[in-house]
Amino acid sequence: MLKPSWVTSANTADTPFPLNNLPYGVFSTASLTPRCGVAIGDQIFDCQAAEMSGLISGLYEAPLFAQADWNAVMEAGKSLWSALRQRLTDILADGSVSQTAAQACLIAQSDAEMHLPFRVSEFTDFYAGRHHATNVGTMFRGAENALPPNWLHIPIGYNGRASSVVISGTDIQRPWGQLKAPDAESPVFAPSRRFDFELEMGAIVGTASSGQVSVDTADNMIFGYVLLNDWSARDIQAWEYQPLGPFQAKATATSISPWIVTTEALAPFRCMTPPREVPLLPHLQDTGPMLFDIDLRVTHTTPEGADTVLADTNYREMYYSSAQQLAHHTSSGCPMRSGDLLGSGTISGARETERGSLLELSWGGKTPVSLSDGSSRSFIEDGDMITLEGQAKGDGYQIGFGHCVGTVLPADTK
Ligand code: CA
Repeated sequence: MLKPSWVTSANTADTPFPLNNLPYGVFSTASLTPRCGVAIGDQIFDCQAAEMSGLISGLYEAPLFAQADWNAVMEAGKSLWSALRQRLTDILADGSVSQTAAQACLIAQSDAEMHLPFRVSEFTDFYAGRHHATNVGTMFRGAENALPPNWLHIPIGYNGRASSVVISGTDIQRPWGQLKAPDAESPVFAPSRRFDFELEMGAIVGTASSGQVSVDTADNMIFGYVLLNDWSARDIQAWEYQPLGPFQAKATATSISPWIVTTEALAPFRCMTPPREVPLLPHLQDTGPMLFDIDLRVTHTTPEGADTVLADTNYREMYYSSAQQLAHHTSSGCPMRSGDLLGSGTISGARETERGSLLELSWGGKTPVSLSDGSSRSFIEDGDMITLEGQAKGDGYQIGFGHCVGTVLPADTK
């Protein structure tokens, strides 16, 4: 049920940010420096101002909102996360005794610029979507070798670059790289011709760990989730990926949506991973519903403004949950930090309209995708914009993620 708020724009069935959601971001305006805020309806509740006015005092000792990121809250752990969420709910709920004081802390989202909501300490990207792995494997290695032999046993991943993570709205410049067509004798250094998006969710580690972590503990370490677009240069990837996996193909940029939707807000939407074809080893087995039922959509916009929905899918298509990925990540003793970002891997459904990358949608360029203006695309062209959207649909409300947007600019001229 929709929880009513005195912020009236938060009380509609189609707002992404009802009181049930309360996602965390960092914003600035013409007169306010970057600071932490909570989305409510079409407004932002300024946490720094609320902390200074004593509205959220008593939960903790040191100031949590003196800094322009959520890392201090993330590091504090799950009991503080719950207490803070409860306090924010009380302040913003219909009939709140704090309404007059809280009103002074509201800023219109239309006046705000969004920034990265947390300091990204590390970035790991996984490959945990079965349909995606099967599609890509079929194209790269043939149908018989589509799924690597380890795939049903471990969530495969690679260590990415935290430095490449950017906020939604940041323009993405087409990368240069070493490319080699299958029939060419030698590689060339040139702008990527097969630049692509990947529809993913990002899980944000809140509490740090050292040593092995169980799936249950891992689930409790995850602060929240964002939409994530892992921009990918397929021609660079095809030449470089053996034997150590992707490197420069994935290093240009990774965009994330500006609002961290907390694990707690997503609790009503928990669901199980799909049935296992082979049992997982005990340290990776499911111990409860740790995936989430989140509808996802990818929209392509041409430089002229023609929109085409490229794909509709759902986060529950993943074979491994982020908790399982995190548990696997620690299995060798790898320490995890607050601010670790884990990309889920590309999320594709079984149907052709549910594929989370152009590589799959155009089947490696063999079947270009038709756009609404009559043109077509095999991969992203200069000036194209890609928008990811996500929402979990409840009874009379939704938990929205907002948008994760990026426009591809021409490569540098050399
Ligand atoms: Ca990826």
